[in-house]
Amino acid sequence: MNEIEKLVRENIRSLSPYSTARDEYQGTPGVFLDANESPYPGALGLNRYPDPRQKALKARVSALKGLPVANIFLGNGSDEAIDLMYRIFCTPGKDNALVIAPSYGMYTVAAGINDIQLRSIPLGPDFSLPEAAIREATDAYTKLLFLCSPNNPSGNAFDPAQLERLIAGFPGIVVLDEAYADFSAKGSLRARVCQYRNLVVLQTFSKAFGMAGIRLGMAFADAYVIELMNRVKYPYNISQPAQDAAWKALGSTPEEEVAEIVRERERLADRLPAFPFVHKVWPSDANFLLVRVDDADALYGFLLEQGIIVRNRSRVKGCEGCLRITVGTPAENEKLLTSLADYEKSHLR
Ligand SMILES: *Cc1c(COP(=O)(O)O)cnc(C)c1O
Repeated sequence: MNEIEKLVRENIRSLSPYSTARDEYQGTPGVFLDANESPYPGALGLNRYPDPRQKALKARVSALKGLPVANIFLGNGSDEAIDLMYRIFCTPGKDNALVIAPSYGMYTVAAGINDIQLRSIPLGPDFSLPEAAIREATDAYTKLLFLCSPNNPSGNAFDPAQLERLIAGFPGIVVLDEAYADFSAKGSLRARVCQYRNLVVLQTFSKAFGMAGIRLGMAFADAYVIELMNRVKYPYNISQPAQDAAWKALGSTPEEEVAEIVRERERLADRLPAFPFVHKVWPSDANFLLVRVDDADALYGFLLEQGIIVRNRSRVKGCEGCLRITVGTPAENEKLLTSLADYEKSHLR
């Protein structure tokens, strides 16, 4: 048994997956009387089950991301891959996982659903990576470490060299969530999955690619880990409309939109500190800004009345007094700035 195999739950290691009718048949299209589908296309032309391995779409993702198909998993959003990590590697009541705090809430929710003990490691000053504390919290039952870079909600990307040091020294699986990597000059570590067998990199079509509505997430990892994910996932986890839409959209890259969002992020980061009720704007490598203000609840409520919805993170440990503001279009950001000016005036009275 290799090092990664030893980390896998015993029931998963020996699992024989559901074999779909379409898995078995690899030839050219013929007369399909194997899957109990309707033979009639109906109004939508969706009478056939979708490809359970998403071969056509994966070929495009492979070309786009520069990794072989064997190293790619596609899921119903990143959330599916996060849940699969617990289900594949963690035995309830026995194993544990590590998260940094503050970070993305789904790591915690998925741990709760799967009844896995979670150890929360506070980030250091200015949301720096707590390398020593992570090592200290690790024991023989620690199977997963969730890292998010750029991190949500703090917005900062960690130093890639520091991340690699952690990955190389960690005895379990490191899940590196790069949902916002397209907005960061620090780039991606996905090519490193060929080097570190314990690294799983998550990316998504929900943010820079502008396709949150189709629910499509990617995981990049060692071929054995990808094989485990395919074994445990629902057989037809990506619907045909989602596969088709993504396949079409992947022809063009959203570089212009991403560049504009990054420009607007820097413009907002410049302008926001001028408001007297803004205490701090953290530097961001993502498409949002974490902003500490005088009275987060009051400002949140005011913006809501103006029809501007931001994320109130003021009750999250480590984010006291903070709002998380997503960067919008230039016009939307202008509306935000105008509303903030109105808020300032209303508070001078
Ligand atoms: C938005 C976000 C995702 C994306 O999740 P999907 O399920 O792919 O939409 C993943 N990770 C983080 C940290 C996020 O903020």
